[in-house]
Amino acid sequence: MSKKALIIGVSSQDGSYLAELLLSKGYEVTGTVRHTTNFYQENITHLYGKIGIEAADLIDLESLANAVRKSKPDEVYNIAAQSIPADSWTHPFYTGEVTALGAVRAMEAVRHFAPGAKFYQATSREIYGNIQAEAATEDLLCDANNPYGIAKAYAHMMARCYRESFGMFVCGGILFNHESPRRSLHFVTRKISAAAACIKNGVKNPPLNELGEPLVDKNGKLHLGNLDSKRDWGYAKEYVEAMWLIVQNSTPKDYVIGTNKTYSVREACKIAFDHVGLNWEDHVVSNEKLLRPTEIKELKGDYSLAKKELGWEPKTSFEQLMKIMVEADLERFKIH
Ligand code: NDP
Repeated sequence: MSKKALIIGVSSQDGSYLAELLLSKGYEVTGTVRHTTNFYQENITHLYGKIGIEAADLIDLESLANAVRKSKPDEVYNIAAQSIPADSWTHPFYTGEVTALGAVRAMEAVRHFAPGAKFYQATSREIYGNIQAEAATEDLLCDANNPYGIAKAYAHMMARCYRESFGMFVCGGILFNHESPRRSLHFVTRKISAAAACIKNGVKNPPLNELGEPLVDKNGKLHLGNLDSKRDWGYAKEYVEAMWLIVQNSTPKDYVIGTNKTYSVREACKIAFDHVGLNWEDHVVSNEKLLRPTEIKELKGDYSLAKKELGWEPKTSFEQLMKIMVEADLERFKIH
């Protein structure tokens, strides 16, 4: 009999890749989406008819309980969150409700209605904030310094609490940044790939950024925050394989998933604009309105434990990843 999985937040970058992975492994997959008037989810339209869909919101315990009751899962992946660190300063209450307490609601739904199911919590590198370390391993303590990271740290520690207090199989991936053509336009790598493609293709109406302004202004400039920020960026398609391996483990544990390499925003711009034959310095400006109130320092994700115990390691280089994203956006933002 095929295993059943419930993905909370299936419309996300990770949720959509995870659904594809689980389907390829013969799972029966149900995914939750938020109830909206206009139901169009770009990341999952190709999955309609292949997965079950339930409406659920992390703010609403009853909706989560219904999704768990109806799907009868063997494995539950909580991928959903208010996932945008930059928005968490302007929405601290909402971020806490969804990203922190929402994870606890999801665990409560599983504890009551599918107590034997394995539960995966999407933890983030942001739980380490500005910590003084070169690379993160699983034993580094939380030191989050923004509302999103603090909410994720709470959810991460509650996951451990549920594992230790209720004997549930609760595990987590402490994932460093991971990107793909399905990354939302709130995030810097996707802004860069989309802007490079729009400029190259001469798109007149580029998508809007989080300030509600065109991603590429009338002078052909992409506005970003701190160009010197460095991140450990991997490929989302590979990171969902790590999630699945973490859940198949014999004991519930948390694992750091990263590439152990960092690149600056500047370097990301150079790779993307070079790929379309443009000079990034002619097209990218740093806009102080887009700076974070507090930065996180450079930190690498040391994935040695995942490699040793799960056999997982990243395969796609950052340069390849940026090119994959630019190619996808050249196709997406075409003038017809
Ligand atoms: P996305 O930003 O692509 O998607 C977020 C998802 O959360 C969407 O499906 C969204 O639904 C859903 N969501 C938001 N609010 C609610 C709510 N109140 N109730 C139910 N669902 C909600 O996420 P990613 O794929 O980038 O990331 C997946 C998870 O991993 C997130 O928890 C994120 O915080 C975490 N993470 C991501 C990293 C990354 O680099 N991508 C790094 C480390 C952790 P809708 O489509 O309706 O908006």
